[in-house]
Amino acid sequence: MTSTLPPLTPVTDTGVARQVRRRQRQQMVWMVLGSYVVDCALLLALSAAGGLAAGTAFFYLGAGAAVSALFYVLLSSGWSERFDDPYLAGPQMLAHAAVNLGFTLYAPEIGVLLMMVLFILFAFGALRVNQRRAMSGPLLGSVVVALGVVGVVVLVGDRLGLPTATWQQRAVCGVWVALILARSTVVGLYSAQLRSLLNKRNAELASTFEKLEQMASRDELTGTLNRRAVMRLLDEERQRMMRTGQPFGVALFDLDHFKQVNDDFGHLTGDETLRHFTRAALASMRNTDRLGRYGGEEFLMLLTATADETAARVAAERVREGTAGHDWAAVAPGLKVTVSAGVALCQPGETAEQLLDRADQALYNAKREGRNRVHVAEASAPATSSEPPAP
Ligand code: GH3
Ligand code: MG
Ligand code: MG
Repeated sequence: MTSTLPPLTPVTDTGVARQVRRRQRQQMVWMVLGSYVVDCALLLALSAAGGLAAGTAFFYLGAGAAVSALFYVLLSSGWSERFDDPYLAGPQMLAHAAVNLGFTLYAPEIGVLLMMVLFILFAFGALRVNQRRAMSGPLLGSVVVALGVVGVVVLVGDRLGLPTATWQQRAVCGVWVALILARSTVVGLYSAQLRSLLNKRNAELASTFEKLEQMASRDELTGTLNRRAVMRLLDEERQRMMRTGQPFGVALFDLDHFKQVNDDFGHLTGDETLRHFTRAALASMRNTDRLGRYGGEEFLMLLTATADETAARVAAERVREGTAGHDWAAVAPGLKVTVSAGVALCQPGETAEQLLDRADQALYNAKREGRNRVHVAEASAPATSSEPPAP
């Protein structure tokens, strides 16, 4: 069963995961720098068209590159790992917004173009907003930038402009707007990619968790419930009985002369016998009953919603008969297997231990009386004898 479990992907604090995250952060800085280079080229074109002093374009690129370099160093050093916002998305947003707003004050004639850049910055920042902490870095950054925008627009007044005097200037502005839109689309696509990656990771995690949970409650050899799981169900049945008065019982099965099976046919055939018994028992059980491996070659069956001894005996008898009638020769020529069972109905106020003790005592009686039989414990000790075994 263990072979079906997928390897757990190290998503948290392994060195590899840290390196991957660091590379992602560095890529982010390179993308921002690339954006400045494109904008600088457009500003140079605008200056050629007579809409701006050429120095402003280089000055703008220099400021953007300086901020990018600072964040590249901070993100590469791993210094930001300690923060809630290890991408420093909030501070990066603030710094680049400050560059654009600063240049709006410095060169208000291209202010409208520069403010458009803020759209991309906000979209980028929103990717890293942590919904659990409403005032996380990027969100706080957005609020500060929004206030900054209002301040700058008020300060610049009617000098805030978009150079459109000549057709060359209009062409450059058009390309600028188109590239802003293109970059917004890229950010949107990146966000969709992140979301689908997250969904995939969640699905993987859920399926791994389900498999782990199943492994924790299953017996590895037979695939039926393990002792812990069946005991938990027994406890739930007891609580249900206390709450609603719905009676239930248990049947403790023990394979007869199983040591002999191992001795005569080998341990591997012994294991196969246990698997076949589980199959035969499950096939003969009522579908509301539950079976678990109690230990070695002992199995515990929970007889849910079982009102009286007769019903409990019938349920256990079907498993005994199913076992005796199973095609054991298919497992190993000459193999014959029977099972004995001790049955007890839970009494009001009885603990699980007391109930199992009575079932165990009934099983002991079934063995003593000749095996391949069901013995039902009486409500109060001593237990009574059972029917004779099937021929
Ligand atoms: P009885 O009819 O009185 O129950 O006789 P028995 O031989 O079944 O008695 P006992 O309970 O003493 O022996 C159980 C044997 O089951 C002993 C042990 O080696 C074997 N056994 C327990 N677990 C496993 C298992 O997982 N695989 C195999 N092959 N054998 C097991
Ligand atoms: Mg035993
Ligand atoms: Mg046995």
